[in-house]
Amino acid sequence: MQNIAISTRTNIKNPEDLKILLRELKKWGKNIFLSENARKNISPKDFSQYQSAEENEHFDMIIIIGGDGTILSKVQKMKSFQTPIFAINGGNLGFLASIFPSQIPFAMNSIFEGHYTKDERMMLSGKIIRAKGSVEKFHALNECTLHHSGIARLREIETHINKEHLTTYRADGLIISTPTGSTAYNVSAGGPIIVPSLSAFVITPLAPSGFAQRSIVIPSEKKITLQVCGKNSEMSLSIDGQIAFEISGEDRIEIKKHPQKITFLRLLDENFYISLREKLGWGL
Ligand code: NAP
Repeated sequence: MQNIAISTRTNIKNPEDLKILLRELKKWGKNIFLSENARKNISPKDFSQYQSAEENEHFDMIIIIGGDGTILSKVQKMKSFQTPIFAINGGNLGFLASIFPSQIPFAMNSIFEGHYTKDERMMLSGKIIRAKGSVEKFHALNECTLHHSGIARLREIETHINKEHLTTYRADGLIISTPTGSTAYNVSAGGPIIVPSLSAFVITPLAPSGFAQRSIVIPSEKKITLQVCGKNSEMSLSIDGQIAFEISGEDRIEIKKHPQKITFLRLLDENFYISLREKLGWGL
């Protein structure tokens, strides 16, 4: 593991965290590549010491300092998902992150001495097929959310699983979440938490009208097709809360499991249930 890219949010809460990380990586003799945002957190006089991450593609690890939002933003910019991510919580919740900044020296020693595990996360891959036949593609680590734009009126979303009609949701919107995203918007909307080693989608309606329509967990091998119908058909499709597409009743959205996974490097004492207790407040 020689070539290490560092990606951060524009303003790291504590720029000292980046300094400590750089010091540790230098101690281990690593080649360091900084993202444009990471460069904004160091003094310009130090620029020449580091290569630009944007001008290179092949790294052995990407270290992210930020919150979950920073990770999701980075994932949106990635074209290939082979490089593992190690995430340091420089944000608020940091559910997806492995460590707090105070653990940077210990974590770097552990990783470079080979004491880590790989945590592979499924992603979703989608396309929007427009009425005139053009296609826009997207990928998400957390979820894609179809939500109303403009006036708050009930939307009708026809939902198929493969070729079978599941239902036409009458709701404010619909979340199609991966297991990773199940602890985010999905859980706020009343959906279940899915252990991330499972391969599945959760479909969760946003404020469904009536009591019958609930979340459903389906196998990730299925294709989900959504189409907005009825007279209020203008909606938006948000991808991991980072980008959005305008959707109309003539568009069709198809969602499948992404062929690639994202790999997070984890320290040996980490596990998902500890994160639920310590970060989502499940208690002792
Ligand atoms: P944000 O709206 O600024 O913050 C969303 C919050 O969700 C942050 O505290 C974030 O953690 C946390 N989060 C993100 N992914 C998570 C995950 N997989 N498990 C547990 N918590 C997670 O937006 P953002 O930080 O850019 O994150 C985008 C995500 O926000 C979307 O993918 C969506 O899931 C979520 N979202 C939630 C709601 C809601 O709960 N009502 C509404 C819209 C969007 P950090 O503080 O570490 O960034």
